[in-house]
Amino acid sequence: MKRTNVSIDTQVIHAGEPNPRIGGAVSVPVFQSSTFESSSASDYHSIPYLRLNNSPNHIALHEKLASLENTESGLVTSSGMAAISTALLSVLKSGDHLIAQTGLYGGTHTFLVHDLTQLGIEVDLVDMSDISNLENSFKPNTRAIYVESMTNPKLNVIALDEVVARARSREIVTLIDNTLPSPVNFRPAEMGFDLVCHSCTKYLNGHSDIVAGAILGRAELISDAKRKLDHFGATLDPHACFLLHRGLKTLPLRVRQQNSNALALAEMLSTHNKVLAVHYAGLEHHPDHVRASKWFSGYGGLLSFDHAGGAEGAHEFVKRLKLAVEAVSLGGVETLVTLPAESSHSGMSPAERVRAGIDAGLIRVAVGVEGIEDLVSDFKQALSGG
Ligand code: PLP
Repeated sequence: MKRTNVSIDTQVIHAGEPNPRIGGAVSVPVFQSSTFESSSASDYHSIPYLRLNNSPNHIALHEKLASLENTESGLVTSSGMAAISTALLSVLKSGDHLIAQTGLYGGTHTFLVHDLTQLGIEVDLVDMSDISNLENSFKPNTRAIYVESMTNPKLNVIALDEVVARARSREIVTLIDNTLPSPVNFRPAEMGFDLVCHSCTKYLNGHSDIVAGAILGRAELISDAKRKLDHFGATLDPHACFLLHRGLKTLPLRVRQQNSNALALAEMLSTHNKVLAVHYAGLEHHPDHVRASKWFSGYGGLLSFDHAGGAEGAHEFVKRLKLAVEAVSLGGVETLVTLPAESSHSGMSPAERVRAGIDAGLIRVAVGVEGIEDLVSDFKQALSGG
């Protein structure tokens, strides 16, 4: 059920705005104060203090983000990794077992296999492209399942509905990273996921100028996560809150333009003789096109493609680009390109990269909101070299 009856375009503008407006301000100002008068505090976690994530900037963002993901409650954090690690540690304790999908974002993968295991939490990475593998992975101590709505850089979408169904019948908590689609394209809580994590660094803020994160879900789960975050201290600072709040107001405008730019670019690339393969769930030949079409209202701004000239061709292409910038990250208004084998996935061994289908000539494109005709001509002229 939708949390409100208004469109996401209206939610980004009006949800969570203070009522009445503070000092009449139409835009929530930056509350650059570490502490606030505390006469109404009932316990430690409700003392108005910046690290306890309860300044007016935080409260407005919690409400707005929860509204966008259609959940009861929300919590902002100092980065996407702060959101993911806090969410997992609020659900898991020593002796518990976590099942996670293979091919996760590298930072999450490292956190699971190095940090969680050091805390006595068992972690199994399961290839869920065949969902029957999940069925064989449950143990009596399985407490949670962690997945991503779409994987990076091949943009795969697993049978997310089956993950929820199989977890529910066993009372297992489901967590999902919804950074890539953003709530404009997909709202996992409506499918039944318990906790939704975001790197707000990406589409939610959208301007490549802050790092931030968020956890959204049922009130009691978010309250547990807030207690952990209060202790970990991974609070988003008020100025970054302000920037995220401002960025959110144009989220649907940006993401729809990124959806349509990425699709047009993917279509052009798929007909180009210097391109071996294009990976974009909006293309009919993508292995998960049917699932993405059923659940998502757009296929997102991220795509990848294999350059026919391998690593050398990919380097030459990137060097020739005039508009797109070579940089990691995604979700901003400007188009960024990166070679995953040398950046996000450089920590893998060559054999692991082969298994994951990440060749040296693979180029990831985080499509921005520029004019599509300009992007297409920039990519065409860059492909014409070498
Ligand atoms: N999740 C995904 C899908 C990401 O791509 C990233 C960062 O690239 C993160 C989480 C981590 O976010 P942050 O860099 O904000 O900590």
